[in-house]
Amino acid sequence: MIKAIIFDLDDTLYPERAYVLSGFRAVAKYLEQKHRIPAQKSFSMLEEAFDRGLRKKNFNDLLQHLNLNEPVENLIKIYRTHTPTLKLYPDAEKILHALKGKMPLGIITDGIPETQNNKIRSLGIENSFTKIIINDIGSGTTKTQGTSFATMLEGFNIPTKEAAYVGDNPEKDITTPHNLGMTTILIRRKNGEYAHVAITKRPDHIITTLEEIMPLLRS
Ligand SMILES: [Mg+2]
Repeated sequence: MIKAIIFDLDDTLYPERAYVLSGFRAVAKYLEQKHRIPAQKSFSMLEEAFDRGLRKKNFNDLLQHLNLNEPVENLIKIYRTHTPTLKLYPDAEKILHALKGKMPLGIITDGIPETQNNKIRSLGIENSFTKIIINDIGSGTTKTQGTSFATMLEGFNIPTKEAAYVGDNPEKDITTPHNLGMTTILIRRKNGEYAHVAITKRPDHIITTLEEIMPLLRS
């Protein structure tokens, strides 16, 4: 019996790629204003490199290709602090609508607090959750330490096994909540960042849409 659900954020409740592209748009706009590089040009270059699988060095790569004298830190800051326009996955919207107020709901996400808060605000979901915990990766805090799960569960006051954690990362979203005794649910989304990462630790349930959680609540 599942009596509380805690969700991961990126690629679980909304498509992370949408955030990435909205950040690229903000950076491209800045480069157009400052260096007269057409925004569409830098945006296309960033999008193309991202879809090719480039990660982490995306802005260094862009500046190099455009031969621009611009500190990469400026672009990273614009990306991380821009105000995105995001929408929930339709199944996420449905399940939150169905469960809000009916059982404790939480979010545990790892990232830069300002960035994660901007995403949550843009999605307009602050009030759908009993508790939201953002682990600040900048200070080395992540889900793997387990503290955030323990803190979340303390407030819920239900047996650990009756709390489910739902995420898309087959490693990080499964191992720790499983070791703590929670029910683990892996969501496999077609275009997610971790869609092709192999499953090493078997979750209790594997789903492809959050709507598959509903029958689990009745079993
Ligand atoms: Mg995720």
